[in-house]
Parts: sequence; C-alpha cells; structure tokens
Amino acid sequence: MVTGLLFNIQKFSLHDGPGIRTVVFFNGCPLSCRWCANPESRQGDLSILKALSPDAGEYTVDQVLEICLQDQPFYEESGGGVTLSGGEVLAQGSFAAALLRALKERKIHSVLETSGFAPPEIFDECAGAADLLLFDIKHYDSRRHAEGTGVPTELIHRNLRSALAMGKQILPRIPVIPGFNDAPEDAEGFSRLFQDMGLKEVQILPFHQFGKKKYEMLKSPYALRDIPQLHTEDLEAFRQIFLDHRIDCFF
Ligand code: SF4
Repeated sequence: MVTGLLFNIQKFSLHDGPGIRTVVFFNGCPLSCRWCANPESRQGDLSILKALSPDAGEYTVDQVLEICLQDQPFYEESGGGVTLSGGEVLAQGSFAAALLRALKERKIHSVLETSGFAPPEIFDECAGAADLLLFDIKHYDSRRHAEGTGVPTELIHRNLRSALAMGKQILPRIPVIPGFNDAPEDAEGFSRLFQDMGLKEVQILPFHQFGKKKYEMLKSPYALRDIPQLHTEDLEAFRQIFLDHRIDCFF
C-alpha cells in the first residue's frame, strides 16, 4: 500500500486556494531555495518533524482522506477543498497521484502547489488529476534559477507548457526575493516569459520571514536571516511592469 511522509496537516486554511481548505504538507523537496520558509520539509528525521508538528508522520491515502472528509461541509459551503503543498508534492509522486484521484472520486476540489520540478510522467499524471495548479515560478533565467534553487528551469518550463496544453486551470506565482528576482529587469524578464507562454495573470508573493524561527529551532544555517521582509507597497513599481505588458498582476 502506498504511503506518504507528511510534515503537517493544516485545517481551515484560507490562503492556499479558494474557500476553506485542508492543506496537506508533503515532506521532501529536490530544490534548495535559499529563502525556503519550510526548512522542515527537507528534514528527513521524523522525531524532529514531530517536534514541530504532532501531525507529522507516514499516512495512507485513506488516512489522509478520512481527515479531509471531516471538513467536507465547510468545503461545500465555501467553495473550498484540499490543497497538496510541501516541500515539493511531486517528490512523492505515486502517493500524490493516488490522493488526487481519491479526492476526485469524492468530488472534493483539489489544488496542487508545485515548483514544477518533477519527471514529466509524474507531473503530467498529478497535474491531470488536480483541479487547480498553484505553480511557483522563481526565475525566468535558467542560470539564475539554479543559483537560487539548485536546479535549472528547463524541466519546469516543459511541465508548465504541458499543463497549459492540457487546458488546466493554473495560477502562476512569483515569490519575490530581494537581490534574486526583484529588480525592474526581472519583472521585464518574467513578463517576456509569460507572454511567450500565453500566461495572462500572476500572483506575486513578497519575501517574508515566517520561516526564520524554524531555522533557529533546526539549528540550520539561513542565508537570508538578516534580509528585511518585503511589503506590497515596496513592489508597486515591480507590479506595474507586468500590468504594462497586459498581465494581470496582484498580491
Ligand atoms: S521549492 Fe518550496 S519547499 Fe522546496 S526548497 Fe524551494 S521554497 Fe522550499
């Protein structure tokens, strides 16, 4: 029986897709983003994961489903559902695909949050089964992407194009990180990529420090420890560049 390693299950979330949602956090990620706010997702030690969240552990699809179904009335009332997040969900592709299929069978709306970095067959299977993709695009330039995350963009762009070809509902998101992708020329570069792909909207996520305490608890080095958070007012000019390219850009 396929099982998945989760580092948290969070109920009543209002920030990870439409309506009231249960967010299922998958452990593991092949990227190493310097700003990662969930460093525990790359921590394989279950005792440490449990110290951060009592919900951490190995689950079967039925066990996750049972927890999610407890809130089905709230999903129905609010237009919500279940969001698969991480970590990188697709790092546990078989489990993710089985969970997405089970949600679909029960007519529960599913959101897949992803960096898009996964083997094409895993990406296509999971993207095909999800109702909405929250697709994080961290840089338009492959070399710069690799500097910030440890991996290049080619596979990610292939998968994004594949999801577009499937006609999936996709919300592209850009985590805006000081010194990495927050310059006006970066907004220009993203806009060119979006126009090339036919993407007409983007959500920008200002850099925050919500993960800082976790690095301290894990005693892990954190390269962006002393970098101030960004606020929406800091990014108005950045946002305007997307609007000038007729890309609906919002926070
Ligand atoms: S893709 Fe997400 S979970 Fe993985 S390292 Fe980057 S920010 Fe962290």
